[in-house]
Amino acid sequence: MFGVVVCPHCKRAKGVALPKKTTTCQCGSEIRVTRGRIRFETADARELAEAVGRINAELRGGTKEVEALTAKPKKRSKDAYLRVIAEAGRAGDRRARARVAAEGLAREFVVFSGEDWRRVADALGVPDPEGSLQELIRGNVVYEPKRGYYRTV
Ligand SMILES: [Zn+2]
Repeated sequence: MFGVVVCPHCKRAKGVALPKKTTTCQCGSEIRVTRGRIRFETADARELAEAVGRINAELRGGTKEVEALTAKPKKRSKDAYLRVIAEAGRAGDRRARARVAAEGLAREFVVFSGEDWRRVADALGVPDPEGSLQELIRGNVVYEPKRGYYRTV
């Protein structure tokens, strides 16, 4: 089983394998995993990632913003992609490149789609775009506030 807990310090949601007693947040705080703290429980890793995204969006009051941004996606400028690709291409290893690319897309578009991600990942020669996006979600760098749409935490 997996659960979603919210860090009492930075208020970010995080997935945890149950029945773990503690987990370390990205901010460095140790979160005690108690019954009352578990906001969502599932046996499915995909559902877990979605729940983390949804809860993060709710915590930030960004649910409506995401709806507005994804209802009518704006036409993307080619330059925006090129800026993201250029910046990420200068980052160190594969992981750093993926992270900088996600941060760049969030800066350009706020909420980016799986298609935006693939376009940038392909240009950067990321061998497994979907896998590396999932890795960013597991690392709590990116969350999925709406299916197929992503933003940075
Ligand atoms: Zn935290």
